[in-house]
Amino acid sequence: MDFQNFGLHEAVVHGVQSMGYSEPTPIQSQSIPVILSGRDLMGSAQTGTGKTAAFALPLLSLLAKHSKAPRCLILEPTRELAAQVEIAFKDYARFFDIEVGMIHGGVGHGPQREMLQRGVDVLVATPGRLLDFMEEGDINLSSIEYLVLDEVDRMLDMGFLPQVRRIVERCPKERQTLFFSATLPPEIEGLTKWVLRDPLTISIGQRRSPAETVTHGVYPVAKDQKFDLLLALLEKTNYHSVIVFTATKMMADRVAARLNELKHPVACMHADRSQKERMEALEGFKSGRFEVLVATDVAARGLDIASVSHVINYDVPGHPEDYVHRIGRTGRAQQEGDAFTLFTAEELDAVRAIERYIETKIQRHKLEGFPYLYTALFNEDAIPQGGAAKGGRTLNGYSFGAKSGKKRR
Ligand code: AMP
Repeated sequence: MDFQNFGLHEAVVHGVQSMGYSEPTPIQSQSIPVILSGRDLMGSAQTGTGKTAAFALPLLSLLAKHSKAPRCLILEPTRELAAQVEIAFKDYARFFDIEVGMIHGGVGHGPQREMLQRGVDVLVATPGRLLDFMEEGDINLSSIEYLVLDEVDRMLDMGFLPQVRRIVERCPKERQTLFFSATLPPEIEGLTKWVLRDPLTISIGQRRSPAETVTHGVYPVAKDQKFDLLLALLEKTNYHSVIVFTATKMMADRVAARLNELKHPVACMHADRSQKERMEALEGFKSGRFEVLVATDVAARGLDIASVSHVINYDVPGHPEDYVHRIGRTGRAQQEGDAFTLFTAEELDAVRAIERYIETKIQRHKLEGFPYLYTALFNEDAIPQGGAAKGGRTLNGYSFGAKSGKKRR
């Protein structure tokens, strides 16, 4: 199958070719015909599967040409995701007379209001700011024909579902709705019944497993050595762009500051940083100016950063599904990627919870030549479930034979 066989608008096919895509990904092959036929869609797919193009290409084909009132509304949970989807639409629509705009919080209202006044066909929005504009009378949604609710489980996590409901209520009942969510907790199943009409359900890959193109492993370490092991992994790994995930904003700041002191080109991204700082971090990381991005889960979902070579979990994610999302940053669209997770005795239960969730035992690794302190994790099989040993005994200079990569530079 290639993009020409779907009956997509020729300007879309042209746009896709200019992006260098040779063949559709599985979610694209399954979704494009359904969306072109006018049917509602309920899609679940792992990150990095080509989901954005799966809805953008048919929607652009259906929209075809510019009209002043917005006809397509896409709701995204975060500003970063909204920005990414806007850019993707603009890329695919480059041979079209279609206007794409974005509204999100964290910046002034003025330029976004002007953009709405000029008129857009496709509006990508985060729920809060869209509601502001609706309440102020800057936009009404009566012209919406296509509604996309993206990353709905993320919107649920962030407490946005009531806002989403209010927005959907203001869209015409006669519309086509596309609904994407990686997981389907009960609150979301209720919402699907309300917003979708006779949808076709598409599920790509096993929801619970990490992308098949990612090799992942865990690295037991004593708490006091976490940062040193991170450094050693960075030194020994053949990385060109790595995202380091931390559990808290404070830890992200701390790790970034220490890496910075050691002259690693590092950017930091979390919810307390301003929109400008977050965009600079993301742009600098994408352009290669920063080789390391330290981030909290704000960056974990959906963000499309091409060619992330490695993901390092500095802290084990507390929710097993976040593990899958985090390591989904690498291995996107069939590229190979590596993911390492550092873990201390306190985090053993969280690692075991992830293993139950993905139904696989994750490979344990020790970094060759690293002066490990002893931790009970090295005798992990002796630690009972729910009884992670605390702390560790010091055996300085002890080294363990293990896999390591070579630094390219
Ligand atoms: P997404 O899952 O939408 O975030 O897309 C992940 C990445 O895959 C993005 O960098 C897209 O540009 C890329 N991509 C999407 N569709 C294709 C395709 N058919 N061939 C190659 N790359 C693609």
